[in-house]
Order: sequence, then C-alpha cells, then structure tokens
Amino acid sequence: IQSKFPDLGLTIFSRMSALAAETGAINLSQGFPDFACDASLLEGVTAAMREGHNQYAPMPGLPALRQAIAAKMAAAGGLEVDADHEITVCAGATQALYTAIATVLRSGDEAIILEPAYDSYAPAIVAQGAVPVRISLAAPDFAVDWAAVAAAVSGRTRLIIVNNPNNPATSVFSQADLAALAEIAERHDLLVLSDEVYEHLVFDGRRHASVLSHPQLRTRSFAVYSFGKTFHATGWKVGYCVAAPALTAEFRKLHQYLVFSVSTPMQHALAAHLRQAGHWQGLAAFYQAKRDRLAMGLRAAGFELLPSAATYFQLADYSRIRPDLGELAFAEWLTREHGVASIPVSAFYADGRNNKLVRFCFAKKAETLDAAIERLGRLT
Ligand code: PMP
Ligand code: GLN
Repeated sequence: IQSKFPDLGLTIFSRMSALAAETGAINLSQGFPDFACDASLLEGVTAAMREGHNQYAPMPGLPALRQAIAAKMAAAGGLEVDADHEITVCAGATQALYTAIATVLRSGDEAIILEPAYDSYAPAIVAQGAVPVRISLAAPDFAVDWAAVAAAVSGRTRLIIVNNPNNPATSVFSQADLAALAEIAERHDLLVLSDEVYEHLVFDGRRHASVLSHPQLRTRSFAVYSFGKTFHATGWKVGYCVAAPALTAEFRKLHQYLVFSVSTPMQHALAAHLRQAGHWQGLAAFYQAKRDRLAMGLRAAGFELLPSAATYFQLADYSRIRPDLGELAFAEWLTREHGVASIPVSAFYADGRNNKLVRFCFAKKAETLDAAIERLGRLT
C-alpha cells in the first residue's frame, strides 16, 4: 500500500512504554495510573453484565449516564447542560476529539493548534485534508499570545483547538484567556474544540475555567472529557463530548458511523459511580501530594522543575545532568541506563525543538514514585 500518512510513526507513548517494558524501567512516560480504580466501579461492571446489559447502548450514550454527567457538570462547575441534546458518550476522549475535528473540517480548511500539542490533534486534522496551523507556546509558563493566534487566522480557518489544562505544559486558562479566545472566535466566526480531560486535576487552589462557562464560547465549542482521567481507568476508554444542540446534532451524524455506541456495562457502572456525589472533590489534593513527592526527588537528582499547575505530569529540565543530549536521546538514556522512563517534550512540537525538557507522570503509587526517585538519586 502506498501510505496515505508517510510522516506518521508509532506514537511516543507507545514507543516509550515499550522501551520501559523491554528494559524493566519504571514507567513514568505514558500517562496512566498504576493503582486500582474504585472497587465499586468494578462491581458495577460485573453487576451490569449479570443484569443482562450486554447489548448495544443507545447511539448517543445511555440516558442514565448522560443525566449523571449533566448533574455532575452542574454540581462541579455550575454548568447547565442538556443531557439529551448536548452530551454524546464516546470511546475515550480520543474518539471524541477525532469526531469533532472530522465533523467540522473540510479539505483545505485550516485549524489552529497551540504547541506543545497533544499528539492526536494534527493527524486528525490532516486526515480530513485540512491543515494544522501551529502557534508555539514557550516554557516556562506556556502563556498563550492571543495576538499571535488572531494573526494566524485566515479566510480558511474554521477551528481553534485548545487543551486546558494542558498536557504536557500543565498550564491552565484564566478568565482573560477565555475572553481572548471568545473574542477571536466571534470576530472570525470560528468553532472551538476544547480538550478538558484534566478538568479536575488542577492544583494549589486554582479552578478550571471551561469554555462551557463562557457565554460566547458556550454556543461555538465542543468540550471533551474522559473518565479515564477522573476515575483512574484509562483502559476503559470512555469519555464524552459536550456541545450546543446544533453542534451535537452534526457530531452525532459522524459518531454513529465511527463507533455507533460505547460499551454498555461500562456506561452502567459509570452512571452509578457518578451519582455518588463529590467523587471528584479529593482528586486535586490526591494528585497534588504525588506531584510534590516526585518533585522533591527530581530536584534532589539535579533536575530543574517547571511549575506543574495541573494534569498529572511534571516537566523537568535536565540541562544540569546531560546537556549534551537531545530530548529523545536523554529520555532513552534515562530509561536504559537509569531505569526510569519519561517523555521528550519535543514530541509535542512539529519542529521537534530541543528545550532540554522531559515529562514525568506522577499518577503512580507512592512506592513507585519512591523507587523512581531512588534510581534517579544515583544519577550524579
Ligand atoms: N487529550 C489529552 C490532553 C490527553 O492527555 C489524553 C490521554 N491521556 C487524551 C486526550 C485521550 O484520552 P482518552 O484516553 O480518553 O482517549
Ligand atoms: N494521554 C496519555 C499521555 O499523555 C497517553 C495516551 C496514549 O497513549 N495515547 O501520556
């Protein structure tokens, strides 16, 4: 076959996790917890299966789950969302993102993405025959230069994709960011796709500001979420997309042919779990403690740390340790020679720039973090 995607290789997450497995390294690369999800979730799945919920769920998602999502969004974020016409349950955030991108973009359209960018956005844009237009954000704070975003808008621009909180930058939007985004979207009649999978993993008392909370953005945005992040179950691959009724109707036209519907017993279990009030409330403190634990060890090992305001990632500058190595080479060296796997931040930039930064995932048991810290302690 003549490849339609000659430039696409294996994702950095598959690559580094495979290297970690091959070398027996502690895997702080790909983002996933190494601890169990809540036992009641697991019981919910088996109960649903035994009760006979083993056939197709309704195309947009189980009504009970969509209602539970709407109730949670009201309780956690004060958002009013119509469960019937604004929520679609998807096979993880990845499918929701792809579906939104394919729903909006035609061949020749442009979509603005902010780099560092999560790795699934650009390929999904290119697969539509559309063009990613990249704005790069710089360490240490990765603030968005909204004037640069406005200047990148052309007559072909249809969509702006944002990731808030940002993987891997760990930055979060302020109300001023939302206002600036809304102003550009309104002025040029653009749609917005907001990847908010880390909505509950925001630290140091800050709060997540969703595009759905902004009146202008509310009507022109798709917001995407994942139960993998909030319920420590990345392997379940269940997420959802929230968008105004007109956008959701278009989204579902494609959703029904991409996946039709998502695993029925998982949806039953998630609906029951969501109804337990406040499950998200302890998440930030839980992960903040892990962040601080890893940070102490990384600093002692000689890394210089960037602030980690959100997500379950920590960016670390290794200039003092191996200034001679590029990011991928450093991540491979650390995995092979010191038994700790990380992700080179260059993987999130199309130009593969070298800022001497790697990303560590701290969604791990205390003993895993401590074992990694012990290994890193022998670095210098
Ligand atoms: N967006 C971002 C920013 C992510 O970090 C991830 C995965 N960690 C996803 C989307 C994909 O989520 P899912 O596993 O639910 O497809
Ligand atoms: N989002 C996860 C990360 O950033 C990885 C998901 C994946 O492997 N596709 O590490």
